[in-house]
Amino acid sequence: MADSGPDLLRCQVSLADYTTWRVGGPAEWLAEPTTADQLSELIAWASQNKIPWRVIGAGSNLLICDEGLPGLTLCLRKFQGMSMDSTTGLVEALAGEPIPTLARRAARAGLHGLEWAVGIPGTVGGAAVMNAGAQGGCTADCLVSVDVLDPNSDGEAGMVRTLIKEELDFSYRHSLLQTSELMVISARFQLTPGHDPQELSKITSGNLNHRTTTQPYQWPSCGSVFRNPEPQKAGQLIEGLGLKGRRIGGAEISPIHANFIVNTGDASAEDILNLIHLVQEEVHDSHGITLHPEVKQLGFPPEPLALTA
Ligand SMILES: Cc1cc2nc3c(=O)[nH]c(=O)nc-3n(C[C@H](O)[C@H](O)[C@H](O)COP(=O)(O)OP(=O)(O)OC[C@H]3O[C@@H](n4cnc5c(N)ncnc54)[C@H](O)[C@@H]3O)c2cc1C
Repeated sequence: MADSGPDLLRCQVSLADYTTWRVGGPAEWLAEPTTADQLSELIAWASQNKIPWRVIGAGSNLLICDEGLPGLTLCLRKFQGMSMDSTTGLVEALAGEPIPTLARRAARAGLHGLEWAVGIPGTVGGAAVMNAGAQGGCTADCLVSVDVLDPNSDGEAGMVRTLIKEELDFSYRHSLLQTSELMVISARFQLTPGHDPQELSKITSGNLNHRTTTQPYQWPSCGSVFRNPEPQKAGQLIEGLGLKGRRIGGAEISPIHANFIVNTGDASAEDILNLIHLVQEEVHDSHGITLHPEVKQLGFPPEPLALTA
């Protein structure tokens, strides 16, 4: 049996409060470290007690199953801090820093390069993992390197090493971090200094305004559910099949943007997953295209082959 562990540890905590979809069962153990020492202590505890751990950020791209997650869930959304050099344009941020905060502060400092990020409700760590992007920009455009904790290296609390952008295999909403066990603890970005702060702030506000008027921001969601099957847009394919407004339980294909599934109040993760499958089947039957979810599914059994091909 696991020892009682560091003070921060909590037992059987609902993960619905840790995802923007507001669904998900309990974490067996959950902790929200704010410092590197706390993080090390938690990982050492998990390692000593042979408890598997996983990391989440702001939970804005996650579908967590209704049964919850075994082991330790480390939520890094409070692991915050940043520094910004307005002369060189170098920005360093801890993994839990909200990416919109970084975008707004960079704009105010006259640093160009993150204006697209203002409407993405994730953390710096999540943005690096997902290669988050919008309005023609993405994380890989300005990321220089990440510091990662490698649980498989020597030592109870793992070892920290730096990976430069070229080692991260970035592509559309993809990075090597998605298939590794590495925990991103911080990231460095190179932005372009010397821009007019007012002009940049106008662009960030315009970007945010565009998103809040064209996407269902007032409803719990995870943003776009499916990757775009380039050159086609997932939203257009779904809308073209008349699926806007289709519901399963409390999950609904947004009438505002067809690539969003919203929680209308009492959705379960199963409702959302069933709606994802329904969309995949209808699009495949009509167009022969397999839509791949952009959202990460945690705690579910592996997908049936027909839907992941
Ligand atoms: C309203 C809305 C709009 C959105 N719009 C966009 C958009 O325009 N473009 C876009 O790209 N995305 C968008 N998203 C999706 C989401 O915000 C991004 O994918 C974001 O980068 C996820 O960050 P997160 O911190 O929430 O990560 P989470 O959702 O918590 O996690 C995502 C994945 O990253 C892993 N992870 C998170 N942090 C770490 C870490 N520190 N180390 C290792 N692994 C980690 C998790 O295990 C998981 O696999 C939107 C979401 C919402 C709700």
